Amino acid sequence: MPELPEVETVRRSLLPALVGRRILEVTRCAWPRTIAAPAPELFCTRLRDRAILDVARRAKYVIIHLDGDEALVVHLRMTGRLTLVAPDATPDQHTHVALRLDDERQLFFRDPRKFGRIWLLDRDGLARLDGQLGPEPLDETLTAAAFRALLRRRTGRLKPLLLDQRLIAGLGNIYADEALWQARLHPLQSVAQLSDEQIDALYAAVRDVLQRSIANRGTTFADYRDAWGLRGDNQSALNVYGRAGQPCPRCGTPIARLVVAQRGTHICPVCQPCSPAHDA
Ligand SMILES: [Zn+2]
Repeated sequence: MPELPEVETVRRSLLPALVGRRILEVTRCAWPRTIAAPAPELFCTRLRDRAILDVARRAKYVIIHLDGDEALVVHLRMTGRLTLVAPDATPDQHTHVALRLDDERQLFFRDPRKFGRIWLLDRDGLARLDGQLGPEPLDETLTAAAFRALLRRRTGRLKPLLLDQRLIAGLGNIYADEALWQARLHPLQSVAQLSDEQIDALYAAVRDVLQRSIANRGTTFADYRDAWGLRGDNQSALNVYGRAGQPCPRCGTPIARLVVAQRGTHICPVCQPCSPAHDA
């Protein structure tokens, strides 16, 4: 599932191609449930002849700002993909929404698993979405002190907290595992038992793994592509995620796989010891 670095890469690949363009019309709405709001018919009417002002991101959402103070908000979820294609490209069965632009291109939303969603939101809708999400981990306002304060207000185990979009926005299974490995913390560690130094290490690790993956244009295992259909390169830079049985890059111990919060979780049993404090 695309996480912050993949969605940011999609945003960056869309930005130069979309800003300044107009959406002429929605030419295909083959799976109406992809349109979360408003009703698909209204969605198509309201998108006609709208100018694209900016392409932003919040957490794992791509936000395409339009004139008239509204925005197209896209959540890719499992297999969703936003792709820029030629004017004569034909949508396949998995292309649920297609937009025709004023520059001879089309923007396809393709999603074989159909979990992805698109909203047309006004300013209040965007504010509501923003209010449901924790701070952006790479935002300069999220200092080490602010991160410490966030975690000190919470109880529970580390990995489920990192996956909670209301605490911190944009992390998913891959980057939570990578950050915990880098910070030498066990995913079941109780947050209440962490020292300030451990929280600082986690803060640095979260930012580092996200920045590195953005530089590598995201992690592609199967479905994820940018807006031009290109794969990311970060899969070869992962230290633990998806590497069960392979040696830990730090100590050589085979990476172990466990299940935390119903998610496959990858750790080095030596670098990330399971301390008695876990039950606290
Ligand atoms: Zn290790």
